[in-house]
Amino acid sequence: MLKTSLSQILKTTKAHLTKLGKLEVYSVEDLLNFFPRAIESTEITSHFANIQLGAKNTISGRLTDFRKEKTPRGKSLGRAALILDDESVIDVIWFQIPYILKNLKDETRVFLVGKIDRNYGKIQISNPEIHLDANVHVGKLRAIYPESPPITSKWLREKISGLLLLAKDFPETLPPQIREEEHFLGKSDAILTIHAPASAEMWNQARKRLGFEEVFEIQTRVMREKFLREKEIKNPHKIQFDAEATKRNLELVPFTLTLAQKKVLYEILKDFERDRPMHRLMQGDVGSGKTIVGFLASLPIVKSGAQAVFLAPTEILAKQHFTNALKFFPSHISIELLTGSVTAGTKKKIKTRLHNGDINILIGTHAVLTEDTEFQNLGFAVIDEQHRFGVQQRTILAQNQAHVLAMTATPIPRTLALTIYGDQDISVISELPPGRKSIITRIVADPKTISLCNHFIDDQITKGRQIFWICPLIDESDKIEAKNVKEEFDRIAHETFPNRKVEFLHGKMRPKEKDSIMTRFRNHEFDILVSTSVIEVGVDIPNATVMVIENSERFGLSQLHQFRGRIGRNEFQSYCFLMVGKPDDANKQRLRALEKSNNGLFLAEIDLKLRGMGELYGVRQSGIPDFKCADLNDLEMLQKARDWAIKILKEDLNLSAYPLLKKRIEQETVYF
Ligand code: ADP
Ligand code: MG
Repeated sequence: MLKTSLSQILKTTKAHLTKLGKLEVYSVEDLLNFFPRAIESTEITSHFANIQLGAKNTISGRLTDFRKEKTPRGKSLGRAALILDDESVIDVIWFQIPYILKNLKDETRVFLVGKIDRNYGKIQISNPEIHLDANVHVGKLRAIYPESPPITSKWLREKISGLLLLAKDFPETLPPQIREEEHFLGKSDAILTIHAPASAEMWNQARKRLGFEEVFEIQTRVMREKFLREKEIKNPHKIQFDAEATKRNLELVPFTLTLAQKKVLYEILKDFERDRPMHRLMQGDVGSGKTIVGFLASLPIVKSGAQAVFLAPTEILAKQHFTNALKFFPSHISIELLTGSVTAGTKKKIKTRLHNGDINILIGTHAVLTEDTEFQNLGFAVIDEQHRFGVQQRTILAQNQAHVLAMTATPIPRTLALTIYGDQDISVISELPPGRKSIITRIVADPKTISLCNHFIDDQITKGRQIFWICPLIDESDKIEAKNVKEEFDRIAHETFPNRKVEFLHGKMRPKEKDSIMTRFRNHEFDILVSTSVIEVGVDIPNATVMVIENSERFGLSQLHQFRGRIGRNEFQSYCFLMVGKPDDANKQRLRALEKSNNGLFLAEIDLKLRGMGELYGVRQSGIPDFKCADLNDLEMLQKARDWAIKILKEDLNLSAYPLLKKRIEQETVYF
């Protein structure tokens, strides 16, 4: 029954079914797995003394004196009076008149749910829901679901309550030991309770169990992959740490490494000595100098006769790594670039040479990761901004028993690192190279400040600096109200800065066009680049000192921090201006954090608290679904889930005793 399709079992409209499909809700099981985000009490009050002013109340009484009126502007509204059991009278007002009122007899007993306020001395309930009986909507605790029209909480409550009997068919998915020792509700009880709780305490119990399970399953999946990997794979590229050679290599670098860079390099080189291939995540703020660490680590690999590959998420970045690599590595090391825009003929040649071992270091994009790319002897893979790579692509890499170093500028809060990156060793580059000035960041909301800002930008251009101008969209959109590249380009180039040279860039342009724009920007052939977020990662334009971000409220703090990292890469003071669409307070408060802090990890932690995990930059792309119940700020629970996962796997790595758990975690392989 749980697998029954909703289109067979629900009486509803096509629009509702389509929307459910968009939410990936197709079967009874899916619908029962669609959890409410909160609950509210709808305890019925029929006495004036029990009413809470300024809050939502559920009141019962006799409805009388219903009439339609027009506002001075000609809109129709409905008015009535509700007589409570103590004979006190509440004013009722509807701005949209409920259909039910059409044939309602005077003095019928009704239940109203809505906010009650004092209005010009009268007690008024505005726009209340109206019910004729106590039902799933009134009288007890009720669930509030995430809404997306036409799917409302009311609709979900009704449909789910009709199917809730089937919750008993949910099989138990947590291992019995865990359930017993942690005193968790059973699965079917938890499902039943989360939709229709008898008390707030029970609802929390249900959430606790379901939230634990979410984290536990991910932990089991991640740790199992680690254990399997460690069981099967030896380290074919064991390289003894050589202090003398490392010292000599450091002399190839035109600057002095920071202490943090040296430490991480050492951690990597020590990993090469171990019995298992390295699996390490290097975390470091934008501009902290991760690339050079990756370069230095590949020298002993190449010396040992193995190959290294550098993967970047965009052509622009791959090319930049390539240019830097040509400068850095001694000329006897052969380096090639392989991206989507390389011609088929050249690609074939590169792949042949790669297979023959004539190429020591390959730098490229996703284009490298096709089935027909065969390395002669891959020893080291460096993945820049790993979350931008798909699961499948990473699996291809894992087949080679190479050391893997993932690099990311996305700061990962500790709790999250524990949860989804639990199987990797983590290195952090905790300081920036010396002499970097921190970026001055300001929110720009009102017209006067905007105008000042434009003057300032013009002045910077006169001083020879360049400007990044970021917009959320490429084209005008009828759905989303936000600035787009094409219109902004027109405005900036023709109205605001008619005397300056302006170009634009977005993700839908051909790679060749994008490349040429970036190259010309780097050569200072124009002053302002209007762009979508395609420039978000890695790109190095040292002469850019100003970044303007339109509709900054639409981005996560971590992402804004990433954008901001594109500037401030020189001796000049740099500035970041955060434009806002409609400055509402919550967003402003969030953005204020960006004005105050240059610490990526701190900002990511705020993001996690305020916007949840799904919004955290990089998480969505990682293939992990957003948690529905689990509270990622609950460190104790996360630790507990992790301990249990390890315990279960140590006893039974194959999960033979838990076929259901095994099936669930194998549904989708995620490889980090
Ligand atoms: P990210 O960590 O964001 O990838 P990059 O590796 O692109 O940073 O480095 C940013 C810039 O800083 C590059 O131009 C690089 O050459 C320079 N750089 C890296 N490390 C140092 C250092 N220790 N001292 C001075 N400059 C450095
Ligand atoms: Mg980088």
